[in-house]
Amino acid sequence: MQTHNLGYPRIGAKRELKKACEKYWSGEITQEELVRTGWNIRIKNWRTQQEAGIDLIPSNDFSFYDQVLDMSLALGAIPERYHDVILDKKNTDLDLYFAMARGYQNDGLDLTAMEMTKWFDSNYHYIVPEFTKNQKFRLFSSKITNEFLVAEQDGIKTKPVIIGPLSYLLLGKEKEPGFDRLNLIDQLLPVYLEILAELDASGAEWVQFDEPFLTMDLTQKAREMYPWVYAKIRKAFPHLKILVATYFGGLEENLPLALSLPICALHLDMVRCPKQLEEALDQLPENLTLSLGLIDGRNIWKNDFQSSLEIIQKAVRKIGRNRIMIAPSSSLLHVPHDLEEEKNEQQLLPEIKAWMAFARQKIGEVSVLKQLVIHPEKPSNLQLLLDNQITIHNRQTSTLIQNQEVRKKTRAIGNTDASSRSEHPARKILQQATLNFPLFPTTTIGSFPQTQEVRNWRAKRKKGEIGEMEYQELVKQAIAAAIRKQEDIGLDLLVHGEFERNDMVEYFGEQLNGFAFTQNGWVQSYGSRCVKPPIIYGDISRPAPMTVFWSSYAQSLTRKWVKGMLTGPVTILQWSFVRNDQPRSETCKQIALAIREEVMDLERAGIKIIQIDEPAIREGLPLKKSNWKAYLDWAVQAFRISSSGVQDDTQIHTHMCYSEFNDIMESIVAMDADVITIECSRSQMKLLDAFADFNYPNEIGPGVYDIHAPRVPSKKEMVDLIEKAEKVIPSEQLWVNPDCGLKTRKWEETEAALKVMVEAAREIRLKL
Ligand code: GLN
Ligand code: ZN
Repeated sequence: MQTHNLGYPRIGAKRELKKACEKYWSGEITQEELVRTGWNIRIKNWRTQQEAGIDLIPSNDFSFYDQVLDMSLALGAIPERYHDVILDKKNTDLDLYFAMARGYQNDGLDLTAMEMTKWFDSNYHYIVPEFTKNQKFRLFSSKITNEFLVAEQDGIKTKPVIIGPLSYLLLGKEKEPGFDRLNLIDQLLPVYLEILAELDASGAEWVQFDEPFLTMDLTQKAREMYPWVYAKIRKAFPHLKILVATYFGGLEENLPLALSLPICALHLDMVRCPKQLEEALDQLPENLTLSLGLIDGRNIWKNDFQSSLEIIQKAVRKIGRNRIMIAPSSSLLHVPHDLEEEKNEQQLLPEIKAWMAFARQKIGEVSVLKQLVIHPEKPSNLQLLLDNQITIHNRQTSTLIQNQEVRKKTRAIGNTDASSRSEHPARKILQQATLNFPLFPTTTIGSFPQTQEVRNWRAKRKKGEIGEMEYQELVKQAIAAAIRKQEDIGLDLLVHGEFERNDMVEYFGEQLNGFAFTQNGWVQSYGSRCVKPPIIYGDISRPAPMTVFWSSYAQSLTRKWVKGMLTGPVTILQWSFVRNDQPRSETCKQIALAIREEVMDLERAGIKIIQIDEPAIREGLPLKKSNWKAYLDWAVQAFRISSSGVQDDTQIHTHMCYSEFNDIMESIVAMDADVITIECSRSQMKLLDAFADFNYPNEIGPGVYDIHAPRVPSKKEMVDLIEKAEKVIPSEQLWVNPDCGLKTRKWEETEAALKVMVEAAREIRLKL
């Protein structure tokens, strides 16, 4: 029975890679230094896993930016526009690689970066391969073999991890019409075979092919290609041991297909889909090894050894120890490095910390599970099992987790949303009477520039250099200045600016019961960008109002309306590590009730317009379409619970910033926000079509300018966009606003762009 790992976090326990990359990009360190940092991280990771007793340690799981981009480089799938970067002799392959990831402005060249998108249902983003009709592939980089050889020199025979050829093609995008990227397999496969030849010649024994698409809805064509591709690989390298890794879900209807592949081992995600074991065991061919992904690669809780052992024993009884492997459910890329780095007991209570495991601890768990199977009677093993069961029991019974009051409230609300509001048309009349906005009302999405100065206030408060009162005074001044600026600009609906918020989720988590925070629990989001998700460990409640103080202060400064600003329940859930002892929907309902209380308090304090941001609703969609409805139902319900306690004349806004609403329009309508603002300018208002096609009944603010760049657009550009919007949505339903919050911008360009926006709205009104 072997243990293995699918991938280890690579940013470094102290984010060494992030820091080195950023220094390299800004010219502070040489490429050699960056490469050395990468080398050190790899060696350290391998040794950590070796010391933990992992039998098959992954290589090529390291990446300077992204593993899919690594694959594109290895396969020579380099879009045309970067060829000048290659031709410039100053540039190394690593420079080319970063040019593809981040764009390239140098020596008269101005190249855009490749597109980036979310890695399945995680918060990791990968660089999307670009394919053309006549796409050629060739072995371009030897990273895969090199990493294997470096580890071997260190005495570790690794299992290289490669994205499987079909998943690689499926991850990409056709950049011109008239072909299907799956047809590129004939050009692609020979390069994969070259890579395998190199690995084979270097003495590799096992190779892991990641094929996460096997857990998704596959077309008939893709399903037919799988056996064909793996048969070719098998034929070319009959003695190489191929493990196909699936994760983030169960194989379901693709299980027979996966079991039929001519490979040595198949990895199943036993965390997301434990029920697939039975069927897999029943249908497992004679010579296939089953890899059980038992340790959660997507969450930070300790494994329950007893229940894992039950699963392993079941498999052992059926197929024997030798045909079983034990592993995390997915790559550990999605969890932080090392729990031992959490030393601050005020921040993370020891009782809660004891329930958790980060990557290094998870590797240990994999190894212990094997020991528990092989030497169950050994006293030290018995002790490990006992300790684990005590911790699991402590967590289940901890008074930190259960809050009867919260339970009572969620039970009471059941599957309703406790809405007492009238239908939108009636609300609209009442709101108009109270709020009295002009046509095409202008507003912003909430945040104003988070300048270094503002961030310094928070840092100083944390260090105790300034007191709470002094901090509040500073934030108040920032709010007052922002209100004045907005009045001068002439916006119709103002915001307070969100200066007091470090992050739109963390800010709320810190004020809610049931959340914990780490000091160093960083996870890679994309490239050098890392996030530190809050941890939801217990029932969620709101001990006190969270935003009322700031919103009321802002409202007190002006005779115009100020919009209250909250993060929605689904987004708070989606961007946190969540508890695994109850369904996500239940946790979401608890957050929704807390937000509802905040909404009611804002209303009581005289805030008549409240925005509840839900940018993460779409990314929470399950991987399989058949599961969408159940998710959307509880996600919409959560939004409605938070928003529907208010009077008819209180206006509820929501904001979402991603593309594509087509396939979830019904749910967007069901959310029933009075106003929804969306990111729209980069699509030239195309996204509005979904709303138009659906006869969206409520009001909508399509973004009229992109906030990702400092550029100040002209009035004409904005007028054109508004006119485009007017063609598909009646003018009485339209608002005018930027695409998203302005926290990453500077004041200078913010003021300039908003002035132009207000003028554009005025021009449009005159034309009516
Ligand atoms: N209100 C938030 C802001 O303006 C919304 C952020 C978001 O959409 N991601 O910053
Ligand atoms: Zn946004």
